[in-house]
Amino acid sequence: MKKKINLQMAAIAVIAIAATLLLVSAVCYDLLRTQILNDLRTYAHLLKSREAVEDMRDRAYDFGKDGLRVTVVAKDGGIVYESDADAEKMTNHSGRPEIEQAFSEGEGQAVRRSGTLQKNAFYFAVRTQDGGVIRVSREADSIWSIFAGALPAILGITALLVLLCTAIAHFLTKSLIAPVEKIAQNMDHPEENGIYEELVPFIATIKKQHEDILRNAGMRQEFTANVSHELKTPLTAISGYSELIENGMAPEEDVTRFAGEIHRNADRLLTLINDVIRLSELDVTDREEPLEVIDLYEIAETCVSMLQISAENHGVTLRLQGSESPVSSEKQMLEELVYNLCDNAIRYNNKGGSVTVYVRPEKDRVALTVEDTGIGIPKEHQERIFERFYRVDKSRSKSTGGTGLGLAIVKHIVAKNHAEMTLESEVAKGTKIRVVFARADGCQE
Ligand code: ADP
Repeated sequence: MKKKINLQMAAIAVIAIAATLLLVSAVCYDLLRTQILNDLRTYAHLLKSREAVEDMRDRAYDFGKDGLRVTVVAKDGGIVYESDADAEKMTNHSGRPEIEQAFSEGEGQAVRRSGTLQKNAFYFAVRTQDGGVIRVSREADSIWSIFAGALPAILGITALLVLLCTAIAHFLTKSLIAPVEKIAQNMDHPEENGIYEELVPFIATIKKQHEDILRNAGMRQEFTANVSHELKTPLTAISGYSELIENGMAPEEDVTRFAGEIHRNADRLLTLINDVIRLSELDVTDREEPLEVIDLYEIAETCVSMLQISAENHGVTLRLQGSESPVSSEKQMLEELVYNLCDNAIRYNNKGGSVTVYVRPEKDRVALTVEDTGIGIPKEHQERIFERFYRVDKSRSKSTGGTGLGLAIVKHIVAKNHAEMTLESEVAKGTKIRVVFARADGCQE
């Protein structure tokens, strides 16, 4: 950044210096040209006041010493007198612009390149009383030769100015960047460094991101610790039971029971690992699944029939109400969402209780509601049950095969679908979870 600012400042300085030099040269040359033409005009008028050719010769001689050339042109354009060349050899001059102008307007002027690039010839002509024209001219250096002459000095001054500008640019850049560098060293208290006002929102964003990263790292660490802890219990059981069988220490009649325990704990491990994998898949935010229009009612139908046996085992009635409800989503996500909500509603229910699933379109939205008459969730836990591994009653969760990750997965899916979720629950009365999606076909009811 420093290098770039430095370079840009130096580039601006060089451009400014070059442009200034060029413009000043042009202005100076213009002044010089005006001055020369004014002088010539004075000379021409002086000569006009002495029209006798003889007299003029004397004057012209004097002028010649000043580097002037005098030409007297007759009415018809013929040369009457020429101070530099033989008048008789010269051609008719009536076509020269300055003479033509003097014939018609009384005065005329012109600047022409003379022979080489180095010199310019300046002409000034006045009409005399007898209708002829007196022209005075002189040569002067052209702008290019003036410029070429001054080039060493110009280059010297430019180099000096560039050096000076580079040094100033260096110090300016340093003082400009200093507060930013200080912030980088002390990110926690940027206000102590007298920061630029424009950087305040930038620092606020970085600070927030920094905090988010720390929080995320903390959450990940906690999650890893929780996963390890959750894995430990079934693995210890599996290891214990299998060791007993291996050592022949398990009584004959208990072997089947121990094998059953091993099986149950292995299943538990599988469920847990599947949930963990699913959560980490959902965590990858930039991997967008291809969306399709799916009938949420159809998903709920499949899910409800799949959970019917589990409901019966818990002594719970499970039913579905509603109608076709198209949402734009990914099938697996919707299945998991409905499954997890219904599964919880069955597991945290009472014998003889019921679970009702409603899926129906509401104007431009689609609402899924899972309502149970179960044990309910105490107010103080309601906020936290969507956290990973948070359970109100750990033993009930575990004994019914819960991993503590179901609602965390639900929360992720809701967010990914840009849906809204609300929870209403009362202890000993039941729980109602409602998820509202945008309707896929976009039409109003
Ligand atoms: P788990 O695998 O333990 O069921 P979840 O993430 O699905 O994990 O749910 C977290 C906790 O929220 C559960 O342990 C339970 O205490 C509570 N919970 C979830 N759904 C219900 C419900 N329908 N009724 C009562 N409590 C519930």
